[in-house]
Amino acid sequence: DLPAPHGDFYGLMDMLSERQREIAARVRHFMETEVAPIMNEYWSRDEFPRQLIPKMRELNLMREIWNDDGTRTPDASVTEGIIIMEMCRVDVSTAVFFGVHAGLALASVALGGDERQRAELLPPMLDLDVIGAFGLTEPEGGSQVSQGLRTTARRDGDSWILNGEKKWIGNSTFSDITVIWARDEADQQVKGFVVRAGTPGFEVEKIQGKVALRIVENGHIRLQNCRVPESDRLQQATSFRTTADVLRLTRAGVAWQGVGCAMGAYELALSYAQTREQFGKKIGAFQLIQNHLVHMLGNVTAMQMLCLRLSQMEDAGTMRDQHAALAKVFTAARCRETVALARESFGGNGILLEYGVAKHFCDTEAIYSYEGTNEINTLVVGRAITGLSAFV
Ligand code: FAD
Repeated sequence: DLPAPHGDFYGLMDMLSERQREIAARVRHFMETEVAPIMNEYWSRDEFPRQLIPKMRELNLMREIWNDDGTRTPDASVTEGIIIMEMCRVDVSTAVFFGVHAGLALASVALGGDERQRAELLPPMLDLDVIGAFGLTEPEGGSQVSQGLRTTARRDGDSWILNGEKKWIGNSTFSDITVIWARDEADQQVKGFVVRAGTPGFEVEKIQGKVALRIVENGHIRLQNCRVPESDRLQQATSFRTTADVLRLTRAGVAWQGVGCAMGAYELALSYAQTREQFGKKIGAFQLIQNHLVHMLGNVTAMQMLCLRLSQMEDAGTMRDQHAALAKVFTAARCRETVALARESFGGNGILLEYGVAKHFCDTEAIYSYEGTNEINTLVVGRAITGLSAFV
């Protein structure tokens, strides 16, 4: 069983199946014994600890969410959410590595690939023998990614020639495959291509100088006459509709990232308040610090319940884009507020890596802006509730 979870005030774990509680405990143990001891060093080095991959393989988490044929397990969304929450409680970057591979890249193959492609790629991806990345965003195309997508694909006999740039692509510095979304010059539709590492014309430069998610390696990809065989074009991905389906499948997971990050920051702040003394008292005895802690706990609890319901709806097939968008908006904002209060509760130590909370504080900024910025997800909900679109 999990040790007394400070950040689970209303018994979230009691609302899960026994199997899900066992998975949560497995992930928590892994994060506390394998990731926590090394994460500050890798955060400072701006590097992903590749030695974690075989250890994550032993956890066998992918098959708790995906079946070999690319279908999802019956309670995949709740299970995935709990995995992500437990990862982010300790380190958001680990969850981003997992989310890019097990979410974005794997879902692209599962939804966009045909039977042959699924049979070839999914089993090794589920075993973490083949690591995936997802290349959609471009230097000039972030929020307006569907209209603004400039990377081109030109058919040339039995292959395609890709040209363009992709920015922010997580895992791409070491991935075995990267799904590149490019516009077919002939019919102008967005199509997905599996680009294998080492393909000529496919160059990845690691983005330097990030102040959030430094353990995640994000690449700036340049495609120059990069030749990909027709057999590596995702055969069922014939328009941006598939890309949107992939993003829909991963957005609930990003909302859960905010839950875990806030939960971790709250737990750190609570422990600090119970040990740090000023004016002859534990700082947790001061009313203003208690106010911070209670505010944080209220946020964490509301986020947990919202995301559990969101994932239950996703598993039941009733979740719509606006439901995931509202959860992402709400949790990212509440997470930002929570990590700021947690950091503040540490005083000066709150900006030191060794106290843990600073990493949560910085990582929240990335959660706030990817998988649809706060503004874009707000407009998705606004459109759904008013029937009026603020988009062009
Ligand atoms: P912009 O679109 O330039 O937005 C700038 C600002 O303008 C934002 O505040 C935005 O909300 C606002 N804005 C834009 N349009 C409107 C509007 N219509 N109304 C109101 N406000 C608006 N992409 C991938 O493909 N693969 C990845 O693996 C990946 N990983 C990432 C990891 C990190 C750490 C980060 C930071 C990004 C990652 N991304 C990835 C890209 C991410 O999805 C984009 O950064 C995101 O979609 C926002 O795009 P942008 O950064 O270009 O911002």
